Amino acid sequence: MPVEQERILPLNAAAPRADAAYVLYWTQMNRRVPSNHALVHAAELASAAKLPLLVYEGLTCTYRAANDRIHTFMLENVPGFEAAVKALGAGYFFHLRRTPQDANDVLYRLASRALCVVTDDYPTFIASGHNRSVPAKLDIPYIAVDSSCVVPMSRQDKRNYGAYTIRPRIHRDLPRFFVPCPEPSLNRKWDDALLPAGLPQRTRVTPENIPALVAECAIDHSVKPSLSYTGGYATARKHLDIFVEEKLNRYAKDRNEPSRHATSDLSPWLHFGHISSLEVALAARDYAKGNRFTADEFLEELIVRRELAFNFARFTEFPETLDVLPDWCKKTLAVHAEDEREVVYTYEQFENAETHDRLWNACQRELLLRGKIHGYYRMYWGKKVMEWSRTHAEALEIMIRLHDIYALDGRDPNTYTNILWCFGLHDRPWGERPVFGQLRYMSGDGMKRKTDTEAYIKEIAFLERSGKDSFKIAV
Ligand SMILES: Cc1cc2nc3c(=O)[nH]c(=O)nc-3n(C[C@H](O)[C@H](O)[C@H](O)COP(=O)(O)OP(=O)(O)OC[C@H]3O[C@@H](n4cnc5c(N)ncnc54)[C@H](O)[C@@H]3O)c2cc1C
Repeated sequence: MPVEQERILPLNAAAPRADAAYVLYWTQMNRRVPSNHALVHAAELASAAKLPLLVYEGLTCTYRAANDRIHTFMLENVPGFEAAVKALGAGYFFHLRRTPQDANDVLYRLASRALCVVTDDYPTFIASGHNRSVPAKLDIPYIAVDSSCVVPMSRQDKRNYGAYTIRPRIHRDLPRFFVPCPEPSLNRKWDDALLPAGLPQRTRVTPENIPALVAECAIDHSVKPSLSYTGGYATARKHLDIFVEEKLNRYAKDRNEPSRHATSDLSPWLHFGHISSLEVALAARDYAKGNRFTADEFLEELIVRRELAFNFARFTEFPETLDVLPDWCKKTLAVHAEDEREVVYTYEQFENAETHDRLWNACQRELLLRGKIHGYYRMYWGKKVMEWSRTHAEALEIMIRLHDIYALDGRDPNTYTNILWCFGLHDRPWGERPVFGQLRYMSGDGMKRKTDTEAYIKEIAFLERSGKDSFKIAV
């Protein structure tokens, strides 16, 4: 079964190379073999042309806020990914650009012998920039494939107003797209002799040499790896299996109680494409069906809410500003722009978890130590940054910066969409109040009433004190 046409987006009009040696798959966001439509499409093109497939993966030191945490998580995926690519009979070339002086043209060198370049369709951060700028610089086809979403992003022709508008469209399309991704298959084996001359040395990554490789990179070494999450498909799959078997049946009831650990914690792996949302969704649906319950609440978050975020990012060129908010949000924010704030914190005070609020500080420490915040408290975290910042625009900047630096699931369509949700995106007007205007408000008392804040504060204090996460899933 071929990859659905709706996932495939040709981004230039160049003709395939006549004397090509291989098809090149440039993995930017879907760094995995299982359930990867882009890889499958690249393999289809290779097999049709009776050529082998080469997978290229790069990691540069030059992305915004590059640091040990993000580099480590990404490198942890490499050995397993390389082995899986090779098991298919494809080639794998990994290049770590340690300093800005290192070669930055590996893609173009590899493309010089390729029939075409296949890559990942992704609406934010580096990949979206590459997919805008690279196609015109190549003399061969450049094709982006959407393997980020269950229902391809191209099925939505405009920005949706909210979950209520996208939900029926997604549900209408699920019977077609909520099916397992085909397996990649190749009819020619890769041979390293096909690599073009003049390439920089490929970087060998093993689980043992990752700390040394990270130390060699010109990045921020002050942001330590997550205490809780290790990159790679195997770890993601283990989290998924434990989630469906032990937590999914209580997700609907307990997902907003952080101390019960009822959510999947899969967002870091989903962000880096170590596992696909389609694989996660199928596993959840099938396990629930086999055990006579439904996974509806989980699938609503994973498919409808997540794909609403991708839809927003796809149709919003600069999602890092308040200008992209709906008019009612901009109006109410303008009316309350000058409201006096009861307390105001600086970026550094937020970063160091130095507010007057113990729950907020615990949320921030969870971000510092684990690299994400529980979803329910993350809403509270965001609303309070808004309430305690000098201006609304400064609050947005602070939240994005903290995500860029510390969140393993940051820079994602979900990051911008959900941070902007704090400013009213995809929400509705509520009662008028200072600073927030008509935006939804969240209070510390509400959190105390609805959740066991003390259990969470204790858990995070232990994490900080011991440097050990009692909830870490060992692999
Ligand atoms: C201020 C703020 C910032 C956020 N920043 C991010 C971010 O940087 N990256 C990120 O992935 N999510 C972000 N979220 C959304 C949400 O908090 C996380 O997706 C969720 O907490 C991840 O934990 P989990 O994997 O255990 O989620 P689960 O509850 O297990 O859900 C499974 C998956 O569904 C998706 N999902 C869950 N909740 C949402 C939601 N509200 N909107 C869209 N998709 C959702 C995620 O991909 C998640 O991994 C943010 C929310 C807020 C309020």
